[in-house]
Amino acid sequence: MTDQFGRAIRYMRLSITDRCNLRCRYCMPDGAALCRHSDLLTYEELLQVAEAAVGLGITRFKVTGGEPLVRRGCVEFLGRMKSLPGVEQVTLTTNGLLLEPLLPRLAAMGLDGVNISVDAADPAVYAAITGSDRLDAVLRAIRASVGSGIKTKLNCVLLEGCEGQIVPLARLAAGLAVDVRFIEVMPIGAGAASAGVSSEAALDILRAEWPDLHGVEEERGNGPARYYAGARLLGRVGMIDAVSHSFCRGCNRVRLTSTGWLKPCLCYGEGTDLRAVLRRSPEELPAALRRTVWGKPRAHCFKEAAEVTERNMMSGIGG
Ligand code: SAM
Ligand code: SF4
Repeated sequence: MTDQFGRAIRYMRLSITDRCNLRCRYCMPDGAALCRHSDLLTYEELLQVAEAAVGLGITRFKVTGGEPLVRRGCVEFLGRMKSLPGVEQVTLTTNGLLLEPLLPRLAAMGLDGVNISVDAADPAVYAAITGSDRLDAVLRAIRASVGSGIKTKLNCVLLEGCEGQIVPLARLAAGLAVDVRFIEVMPIGAGAASAGVSSEAALDILRAEWPDLHGVEEERGNGPARYYAGARLLGRVGMIDAVSHSFCRGCNRVRLTSTGWLKPCLCYGEGTDLRAVLRRSPEELPAALRRTVWGKPRAHCFKEAAEVTERNMMSGIGG
């Protein structure tokens, strides 16, 4: 369906848990409060939402978290999402730590893509950002994911002080058919206190290494990334720069938090409590979805941090 501004909404991000096995300092710092288990949507409830969304033309889904793979039954849930009638695409966003052994099953079920988040290529820097010394497992998962034939992309948040990681991360696209996307830090949750690097500054750093880097007009997913190619890069380099550029005119998505709050826009707290609808009057689900999609705001407000009304952490929202 379209929203009040004529944008076709076809894509939903589903956060299936607010738990995570990492503590990325810009997302879920140590001591972050967690919701009660009973407040999480059950897989049955998530499937009910997806079914209702498909009825409105939302046919592409990204399963996210927290870390989706720490929730028991995630792989089976992905399989059930894949077989829901009308679903065109199911992809997963993960920090990659638990991914490698699951890849054969994910490939067999026809998972349409996996995004792996990795903000540093140096183990010490990775540990300082995430609190984990398991970068090796993530790098192995990246190679195995590409090898499994699942379309694989990397997400790398641009953090101040970590500029030295930009070229080593992009270098992963030199030897592998993988898109490496750099993301500006958004002022949501702990991200509000994390200084970032702009996409322009990151591009300058990349161009010093690959002077032939040039923008390409290619449709490579559902998101707002702008892509760049270089003769010495097998994959593409991408920029997701919600802070320095607004791509709201082409926004195609809504988000469901792990507790069932349907968010029409990342930067505002407004939305609809689908968990209450599901548990009290499930027959109203399609109407609640339609109302929320229709009321999607025209644009986000990341340039005016004071206008951001979202108070949840990104780990509950799903990115
Ligand atoms: N744990 C999974 C992962 O890391 O991919 C899925 C959830 S995580 C919230 C989804 C994405 O959001 C990750 O790529 C993460 O780096 C990104 N993210 C989290 N907080 C952010 C922020 N404040 N600004 C920009 N991206 C953020
Ligand atoms: Fe966990 Fe992903 Fe947030 Fe890192 S970015 S703390 S991996 S949810």
